[in-house]
Parts: sequence; C-alpha cells; structure tokens
Amino acid sequence: MHTRTRKPTILVVDDTPTNIEILSEVLVDEDYEVLFATSGQEALEIAFGEVPDLVMLDVMMPGMDGYQVCRRLKADPVTKGIPVIFVTAMGEETDEAKGLGIGAIDYLTKPIRPPIVRARVRNHLELKKYQDFLERLSFTNGLTGIYNRRGFDLSLEREWRRARRNRTYLSLIMMDIDFFKAFNDHYGHLSGDDCLRQVARSLEGCARRPVDVVARYGGEEFACLLPDTDTRGAVWVANQIRNKLKSLNIPHAWSSVADHVTMSLGVAATIPVVGQEAVDLIQSADRLLYIAKDNGRDQVRSALDQEA
Ligand code: GH3
Ligand code: MG
Ligand code: MG
Repeated sequence: MHTRTRKPTILVVDDTPTNIEILSEVLVDEDYEVLFATSGQEALEIAFGEVPDLVMLDVMMPGMDGYQVCRRLKADPVTKGIPVIFVTAMGEETDEAKGLGIGAIDYLTKPIRPPIVRARVRNHLELKKYQDFLERLSFTNGLTGIYNRRGFDLSLEREWRRARRNRTYLSLIMMDIDFFKAFNDHYGHLSGDDCLRQVARSLEGCARRPVDVVARYGGEEFACLLPDTDTRGAVWVANQIRNKLKSLNIPHAWSSVADHVTMSLGVAATIPVVGQEAVDLIQSADRLLYIAKDNGRDQVRSALDQEA
C-alpha cells in the first residue's frame, strides 16, 4: 500500500485575510504545508480535494459559516476524520459548547496566543498521525498488505469526486484469478495464499504512480484504480499486469487455459458527471471482466474491443 510521506497539511479558513496572515505567521516555522480559504464554500472544496490533516476554522463568515462547514466535513466519510479547531472571537461558553458539540476537537479564541496555538496544533497533529496509522491498518488486507475492500471503497469515493471536480478520467481494472479453486484444491490453501501474495506484489509493481490504488476486492479478485488515466492508458497497465503475472510463471497444472496462473481483466474508464455513480464504474469493469472469462480467460477486455 502507498503510504503518504508528506508534510502535515493545515487548512486555515477565515474571511478576513489579515487573520489568515496572523495564523500562517504563527505556523510558518513549523514543518507544515498551510492552505487557505476565505469562504466556507472554498474551504469545503479544498477540504474534499486535498483532505488536509487539520482545519482551523473561523466561525463568523458571510454565506456559509464555520458551524455549517464543520457539519458538512463531519457528515462526509472522506473528511469526517479531519480534526477541526474553531478559531473565533466569540468567546461565550455557549459558542464554545456548540462548536465542540458538532464535532470540533478544540476551540481557540482570538486574539490568539502564538505559543498556545503552536502547541495545540502540534498535539492534534500527533493524534491525527496515530489515528491515520490505525485507519490504514483497518483498510489493509492482512494476507497481502494491500488495501482491503473497505480501503478500496473509500479510495473510489474520493477519486470519483476528484475526477468529477477536475473533469479528468478515472479508470478501474477489475481482475479475477482463473481457476483458482482448482489451484487451491490441488496445491493446498497455503500455496493459494502465497499465490495471492505474489499477485498483490506484482500489481503494486505495475500501478506505480502515487495516486494509483491497488486492492484485494474479494477472495481472488483484485481491483486497480487509476486516477487521471483514460481507457487506453488503463488497458496498457492491465496488459502489463497480465504480462508480469505470466513472467512470474506460478505453475498451475489444473488450469485449462495455461500451465501457469493467469487472470481475467476488465477495464472501464469514465469522466464522472453529476448523476453518474461510482458503482457504475465497478459494474462496467465487472461486466468486461465476465466477458473476458466467457471468451476464454487469461485476457484483458475493455470498451476499446467493441470499438475495434
Ligand atoms: P474462475 O476462473 O471462473 O474465476 O474460477 P475460480 O475457480 O477462480 O472461481 P471460484 O469463484 O469458483 O473460486 C474462487 C476460489 O478462490 C475459491 C477459494 O478456494 C479461493 N480463495 C478465495 N479466497 C482465498 C484465500 O484467502 N486463500 C486461498 N488460498 N484461497 C482463496
Ligand atoms: Mg476466479
Ligand atoms: Mg471470483
């Protein structure tokens, strides 16, 4: 699985640019990447796109206020884990209780005290790091070390929206090992497990860009999500996967299509539009995977086949 080794990212939201300057001044010497937004709407756009590690949020803003922004962040599976700190001039007990009540982790009142802000930000980011670690663990398949179904679902949701926003292609390769039941029956489950591990390693080797996602979708089914990649590009990757598996040459004497372990692969790509759902992409790739199975297995199928 790809682990992000980037600096912690903080999103600072305030409709008054001076306040943003003050906060970034306070954080400037720390090793953070600081992003800015001057409205609630802009804050949400950046938050959904960049998924920062921490949000520092002003309460009173024209249009969408800080409470609304916080609620939206907490209601979305992609952003709900991001700690939110309210930074506000409203020092009333009820304001603070309201902020914490809708899911903020902390509440700072202006005028801010730089050393306190720095210390609290540091503490919250430390906790976030641990939270991310546990989350990564819960998204990982123990046998293969790549994403499990849960990790895949969340990645798909995130990349789907990113692609829709940026109007870029999102590709999905669904794949299934051929005659894997027979493999297990004849070589034993431990060999089966070992085969799954080798397949996972080889997938990771083929989908190499940091944004690419490789997952174990189910038993002997794998999925590969390729952001910013069109059908042709994804078919290329799928062929790489097939060739790499061939070169691994894992013996499979009970396969009726080859003497080594093979996979069938379905490739789908789309530029997501409003009204279309991420499951549509899964269904398309699945359908092509079953065409590959029906046509004799050990092959890549995509929409390009129909065009040709
Ligand atoms: P097809 O070519 O049509 O895909 O046939 P198949 O035999 O691969 O498909 P089927 O769905 O009948 O069998 C899948 C097999 O995958 C069943 C099970 O023995 C095996 N399998 C699923 N999960 C695991 C696992 O975690 N470890 C091992 N060793 N085998 C697994
Ligand atoms: Mg199979
Ligand atoms: Mg299967």
